[in-house]
Amino acid sequence: MIKDSLEDTISAISTAQGEGGIGIVRLSGKKALSVADKIFVCSGKARPKDFKSYSMHYGKIVEDGKIVDEVILTLMRGPKSYTRQDVVEINCHGGLLSLRRILELTLKHGCRLASPGEFTQRAFLNGRIDLIQAEAVIDVIRAKTDSALKVSLKQLDGKLSCQVDKIRRGLLNILAALEVNIDFPEEDIPVQDLVKISGELKTVDAQLIALLSSAFGGRILREGLHVVICGKPNVGKSSLLNALLKKERSIVTPVAGTTRDTIEELIDIKGIPVRIVDTAGILKPRNLIEKEAVKRSREQIDLADLLIILFDANGKLDGQDRKLIKGLKDRNVLAVINKIDLKRRIEKDEIVRFFPKIIELEARNGKNLDHLEKAIYDFVYQGKLLNPELILVSNLRHIQALADAQKLIGQARVLLADNSSVEFTAQNLKDACVYLDALLGKDFSADLLDKIFMDFCIGK
Ligand code: GDP
Repeated sequence: MIKDSLEDTISAISTAQGEGGIGIVRLSGKKALSVADKIFVCSGKARPKDFKSYSMHYGKIVEDGKIVDEVILTLMRGPKSYTRQDVVEINCHGGLLSLRRILELTLKHGCRLASPGEFTQRAFLNGRIDLIQAEAVIDVIRAKTDSALKVSLKQLDGKLSCQVDKIRRGLLNILAALEVNIDFPEEDIPVQDLVKISGELKTVDAQLIALLSSAFGGRILREGLHVVICGKPNVGKSSLLNALLKKERSIVTPVAGTTRDTIEELIDIKGIPVRIVDTAGILKPRNLIEKEAVKRSREQIDLADLLIILFDANGKLDGQDRKLIKGLKDRNVLAVINKIDLKRRIEKDEIVRFFPKIIELEARNGKNLDHLEKAIYDFVYQGKLLNPELILVSNLRHIQALADAQKLIGQARVLLADNSSVEFTAQNLKDACVYLDALLGKDFSADLLDKIFMDFCIGK
């Protein structure tokens, strides 16, 4: 079924919507060249079907003898193309009208409009890339920081796939060794074999655990760290957001309760994309608007990876502070005392009882802001510097599959240590392989592909 759709020739606008210097309409499939033949003219008699692969040609797109646009046509013959099929890219002027008219012409002459990510899906189905690499394509497009881009490019390059495949091959070797013993179920595995197999399984397990240990940092690089600033009104939450953004985003006034809605911005803190949210800070709503503001603040607090609780150095802790502190029990919290330029009245000892590490700063002029940025960075990498050469797992589907495989391998190791059941041990390892196969896309369902590529842009 899925493979049937490969027979269609697809086309789509591959560049972003809106005005641009250049726009690209991309075609892929058996009829890509013949469709191009019908709509593209250039000087001389040569037609796209005669063009060499990886060549570019200046000419015009025409309809009923009338010029639609002046273009450059690029041709890549399969299998050496993005999709492994014949691919034609038409570089036209980047106006919406020009792009739409060229797209419509390709549809009129036999193409089908591509669905989101269908070009990349073809690259996967035709075996040019595996599923991990296909998913990395969208991560490269969406990367928000240099580090995130590096991680995605490594995945696109197949580095993570290689690592997963190495683990999978290790498992298959162990399985082969176990199968020999399954033929003689009544006998225990000879001790020397058992020691060897256990050692190999331990190595595979360690490789999986090492990959999984990068998951938190990797996921944060991909999706952004969700940080929520909370604290009672007037402690300086909006000032802190503005200081971190290095621009005036939130309105700062001495009037308590100015921020009524949650405000979200994306910032880059030492290569980590941080989605930072300033909450309303209202604890006792006086009207419907404030009630909604409190509800939104709570939702944000519940979803946060990390919370910054802010106190005013010049104010004494009161019931509102204590209520907030209680509500953040068992969460990842950075406690921050703001306004250290003012006379100290805050009872720091009481805060330390709940949050041992306290950062002191002046949000208004950015003093010690770097202490907070470092604490956020350390929270993600637990003090270890991110080595951009590391292969990180960042996609939730990948993390889940690796975790499922690792759990089964852990159980297999216990069974093997008991020398209790070779069959059960082998079954666990086979099931672990199923997870790794699904991860690489050696085994997939139409639903899974739909779910993955639904997230892509049309034309990629
Ligand atoms: P929010 O209600 O918690 O968002 O607080 P705001 O950011 O609106 O700040 C409330 C008031 O505190 C404003 O008048 C700010 O200028 C002031 N403020 C913020 N940070 C500092 C600081 O570091 N030192 C001093 N002295 N005042 C500050």
